Amino acid sequence: MARTRVALAGSTGSIGTQSLEVIEAEPERFELVAVGATGRDPSALVAQVRRHRPTVVAVTDPAAAPAVVDALAGVDVEVRAGTDSMASLAELADVVVNGVVGFAGLDVTLATLDAGRRLALANKESLIAAGPVVQVSRRTPGAELIPVDSEHGAIHQCLRSSSDHHSVARLLLTASGGPFRGRSIDELSSVTIDDALAHPTWSMGPKITVDSSTLMNKGLEVIEAHELFGAPAGDAGYGIGFDQIEVVVHPQSIVHSMVEFTDASTIAQLSNPDMRLPIGYALAWPDRIGTPFGRIDWSTLGRLDFEPPDLEAFTCLGLAFAAGRAGGTVPAWLNAANEVAVAAFLDGRIAWVDIPSVIESTVAAHDGAPATDAASVIDADATARRVASALLDRTAALR
Ligand code: MG
Repeated sequence: MARTRVALAGSTGSIGTQSLEVIEAEPERFELVAVGATGRDPSALVAQVRRHRPTVVAVTDPAAAPAVVDALAGVDVEVRAGTDSMASLAELADVVVNGVVGFAGLDVTLATLDAGRRLALANKESLIAAGPVVQVSRRTPGAELIPVDSEHGAIHQCLRSSSDHHSVARLLLTASGGPFRGRSIDELSSVTIDDALAHPTWSMGPKITVDSSTLMNKGLEVIEAHELFGAPAGDAGYGIGFDQIEVVVHPQSIVHSMVEFTDASTIAQLSNPDMRLPIGYALAWPDRIGTPFGRIDWSTLGRLDFEPPDLEAFTCLGLAFAAGRAGGTVPAWLNAANEVAVAAFLDGRIAWVDIPSVIESTVAAHDGAPATDAASVIDADATARRVASALLDRTAALR
């Protein structure tokens, strides 16, 4: 059997490095053909190329490219530099893992689908911000979108238990609750960057870890679920509306999400929290890899708890539901405001409790522009960033 050719976009990040572990575990199944990164961590990228020997490496930051080229002198690899270089990798592969952080992953998402390839999508922001545009690209012959997000990978697996796309009653997205689960609004006013980065169950990059602490990650995942599974029931979709997507807090992160069918049967997918499982699932789909990442030891598992989210202390979840229902470029504004606010929090410019305030005020200023094509979404993202940055400067000045 021919090996699956894999390209990794965002190869030096958390998803990228874990994808390499999956590929390395199953060399008879996967062939790494290309890696791409900003190049801001050139030594990590160079080390990946030397160890895994892809045929092409993309470096999107032009300033970083010379150092990578120099370090790879004598290594048989093509170096592609420039902002479009990562998106160009799609042509080389059967499946592209999009592990880029944030809205910057949009071009890889669109290029992969437009090339009729399988997209293993960890970059949820591109799907959320550009939903209407991504849906068009998804219809390209040969294009497939398999989520790498653990919750959506779980739902993807649960949905396979029924061939009838009209039979889904609810999607139940589980949330760990993050490091601040159970804290009151008062207690949340004094949390620090280190507190927010101390995730209880998952090991992830800083942006998504802060998103988990605010529950914005779950909010974005609600919109992501709607984009992935919400198309009218038929070949492509399951007709899931926002009223049929519920968030359940499950602190152990063992049940990765559930699907309730019309007969009240609820199907869940369980494993220990390990991103290599959903990565391997997306890479091997419709088959399964043979390496058991996240295998459960039932003799020590203990209990599984479930509780409703605290929507008053964690307002980002409600903001995301509202933005998802509004549609158009409102999710792009929500996502852009969140990226700006989280970056400012990580820089120490604003407090954790300011994150939802900046997002809410930004989205309230939405200009009503529709999401007609990639350019309109990129415009919306840029406009929302300007609005959010201005609001943030005022917020920071008050601190
Ligand atoms: Mg997730």
